Amino acid sequence: MTILSVGAHMDDSEYGMGGILIQAVREGHRVACVVATGDYTSWANTVGREEACKRQQLELAERFGYEKRFLNYKYHQVEPDVTFKKQIAEIYVEVMPDITFVHDTSDHWPDHRACGIGTKDAVIFAHGLSGNLSVPRCPRVFAYNLTPGQQITFEPDYFHDVTDVMPAYMELLQNTDSCLSGKPVEEMPRYEVTDLASGASMKVSSHGWLRMNQCALWGQSTRSSSVYAIGLKNLWGPGEVPLW
Ligand SMILES: [Zn+2]
Repeated sequence: MTILSVGAHMDDSEYGMGGILIQAVREGHRVACVVATGDYTSWANTVGREEACKRQQLELAERFGYEKRFLNYKYHQVEPDVTFKKQIAEIYVEVMPDITFVHDTSDHWPDHRACGIGTKDAVIFAHGLSGNLSVPRCPRVFAYNLTPGQQITFEPDYFHDVTDVMPAYMELLQNTDSCLSGKPVEEMPRYEVTDLASGASMKVSSHGWLRMNQCALWGQSTRSSSVYAIGLKNLWGPGEVPLW
């Protein structure tokens, strides 16, 4: 199986569907992530370390077993126009994902909204954007959300258990927080908590703390034995069928 995730910024896919990403890689699936805003001269946090930041992200992706590629948009200047959709459609035709993850569009950040609209259009209507008139639609498309401060509303209708990978998910987010800040990963842990599933101690970064709490709430929402789950919105495809 091949999975595509498109995020506006360097950590969006990892935050939004990182637990699923880790599980998919462990199951032997291919995971490709796209970052739209690859022009790091356009964000104060990354000015002066543009190439180093990209290199750090690529090394992280290699370590966790997924692919990462960059478009060249500036921060807060992504537009869901034909130019954007064609770039995503080209990647879609090359990768041919079975599932695509996109931003939810109920979000204060303009790049998130733009990527959500443009990516969904690109993978469902690639036949009109890629030059390949017979390319099929992506069979399944899900929307993921980001932090509570960015989201306006998000009501997931699909829950995927990530209990078994929560420590690795938290490690991934410590590393993406290091990419964001330019500070060593050792400085990223903000809290030390107990993993509700294993009882082991787990260090979590700022974004890790937010995500872990969201996942714990959604674990309860599944009405199953999940301790942690990722909530998604089913945008296209066969509803309740498991991801794999
Ligand atoms: Zn973002």
